[in-house]
Amino acid sequence: MKFWRTPLDADKIKVPHGETYVIKERCKGCGFCVEFCPKRALRLSDEFNIKGYHPPEMIGKDECVNCGLCEMICPEFAIYCLEEEEVQVEG
Ligand code: SF4
Ligand code: SF4
Repeated sequence: MKFWRTPLDADKIKVPHGETYVIKERCKGCGFCVEFCPKRALRLSDEFNIKGYHPPEMIGKDECVNCGLCEMICPEFAIYCLEEEEVQVEG
């Protein structure tokens, strides 16, 4: 993330990382998650789901900061994210 100026306590802040999951068959390809992801971590994939839409996919695995915006904004409840540490515990 680029800051206009670096916060004085930037070295003490741990930036979270998330893993985003897409329930592909629910997606209607509206692109809200892609458009509004603050890290530009998503794009619409080339594949088609059963409804004929392109579900999103991650561009860079390390880009997601687990902000949850894609999860909140999706009108179809088709995308969610988990903090990377949660994923490691489950995995
Ligand atoms: S959780 Fe935030 S950073 Fe991660 S993909 Fe969703 S909108 Fe982007
Ligand atoms: S916001 Fe939801 S329905 Fe729209 S493209 Fe993203 S995952 Fe699909």
